[in-house]
Formats: sequence, C-alpha cells, structure tokens
Amino acid sequence: VDKAALRPWHWDDFFAQEAPAVGTLDLDPLFSGFDHESFARDYFERIGLPVDDVLARSDLYEREGKDQHAFCTDIDREGDVRILCNLRPDERWMRTLLHELGHAVYDKFLPRSLPYLLRAPAHILSTESIAMYFGRLTRDPEWLQAELPGHPGVDAAEVEEQQRLSMLIAARWILVMVHFERELYRNPDRPDLNSLWWEMVEEYQLVARPENRDRPDWATKIHLSLAPVYYHNYLLGELMASQLTQAIGERDGSPGDYLRDRIFARGATMTWNDLLRDATGEPLSVGHFVDQFVTDPAAR
Ligand SMILES: [Zn+2]
Repeated sequence: VDKAALRPWHWDDFFAQEAPAVGTLDLDPLFSGFDHESFARDYFERIGLPVDDVLARSDLYEREGKDQHAFCTDIDREGDVRILCNLRPDERWMRTLLHELGHAVYDKFLPRSLPYLLRAPAHILSTESIAMYFGRLTRDPEWLQAELPGHPGVDAAEVEEQQRLSMLIAARWILVMVHFERELYRNPDRPDLNSLWWEMVEEYQLVARPENRDRPDWATKIHLSLAPVYYHNYLLGELMASQLTQAIGERDGSPGDYLRDRIFARGATMTWNDLLRDATGEPLSVGHFVDQFVTDPAAR
C-alpha cells in the first residue's frame, strides 16, 4: 500500500475562523494575559486526553508568509498528528485551538490495532462534531466558571444568548452553501450562478441583494474551490455536538473517557449514524440542537 496515496483528508477549518461574532459581548478579556498553549495542554490532560505530543509537533504561532487559517492533519495514522494555528491571546483563537485539538484527539486516540483504512474518524461530520464540542466551550458559562476561576465574571445569560444567535445565524448560512452547491453541481453550465447565489442568500439568510449586483460573489467562498461539498458537515457536526453534549451531561463524567471509549475507539468500523446510535442511544437527531439553541431559554 502506498501510504502517501492514502494520506487522509486535510482538515481545513475555514469555518471555525468565521463563526460570526454577534452582539456586543466581548469575551476577549477572559482569554488574554495567559498562555493558550499551556492552558489547552492542562485542560486536555485533566480530561484524560493529553495533547502535549501534538502541541510539540505543531505550528501554532503567526509568522510572515504563513497560512492564516487553522487545521489538523494526521500525517501517518501512526500517531503523528499535528495542528496549525495562528494563536493570539483572544477568544477566537482559544476557540480555534480547542477546535483543532478536538480533531487531534480523535486522530490520536484511534486505536493503532485497527486496520489502516479503518483507523480514521467515522465520517467528516463525526470529527467536526468533536472539534465543535470543544470549540464551543469558550462560550459555555459553566465551563468558563470552572476553567477560568477568578476571571472578572460574565453574565451567563448574555453568553448563552450570544452563542444561540451565532448558532442560528451559522445554521442559515450553511444552508446557503449547501443549496447553492447542490444546484451548481446539478447544472454546472447554468449561466446565472451570480444570481442563483443571491437567491439563496435572500431565501435562507434573509439578506437582501444589493441593487444591480451581478458579480461572482459566490466564488469568493474558499470552500467552493478548495473544499467542495464539505459544508453540510458543519451543520451535521453541530447537531452531533449537541447530541454528544446531552449524552455526556447525562453521564455526569469527564468528556474524555466517554469520547475516547465510545467514539474514537471505534474508528471507521461503523457508519457514522450507527456509531452515534451506539454511543448515545439514538441516531442523529435535531432535537438536542433545538433544545440547546432554538428553544427560547425563558420558555424551557
Ligand atoms: Zn474542524
């Protein structure tokens, strides 16, 4: 087997970079003044998923000419897992670091005993869900309270509301991408892609198109050329992350043991939905995402 030919997907995380900042709540002050790298090392160590080896191999800080995004890659499926980040002491980069390390722990804790081809996440959406589970923590009031004791304090309701808005706006934005791509591939020669893009934006994002706009705005979205037919995995990943959050909450334990034993240990030996059913007791459901982010907290 030519391993180079089987090199796994390069997990580029353009999406983690662009999760919308909504509202006026500024969480940056909570994430300044300390070293994100050692914070993340300690956190993952504490939940039983140590990442010191991953961090030691990774390219974490900005420099001239470097890729400005973030991603995780499993070089050889033998444990050489690395991430790329451009860390700055703010909330966005803490969130991105946790997200990438979510991918990294999935890859790292895939059992080496599995055959090479099954030594991989069950699906793209499965590894995104783990990354999203960890990336969400920076806007989780309970986690902030537990992990940043002594911080100046944030209004929990305000943080939750901001996260709710981000999720709902992201969900609609993802629908624009998914429906546009579906139409694009259904009929790649159609002459009206510029207009089709704005039809989707108006329908799903409820954003009005500028007057007389006829430019290839759709082509500015990097996924359309570099990561085609990927975007739906982000929304499916968010749904799965909510389902995992619920399952972990019910077990009242550390997320590390649960994720390692119930998700990572299976590799790609099961289809993603069988894996989820096995781990949480039910197939992928929108209900947990709805409970978490759609239902008005006041009405719960
Ligand atoms: Zn990701």
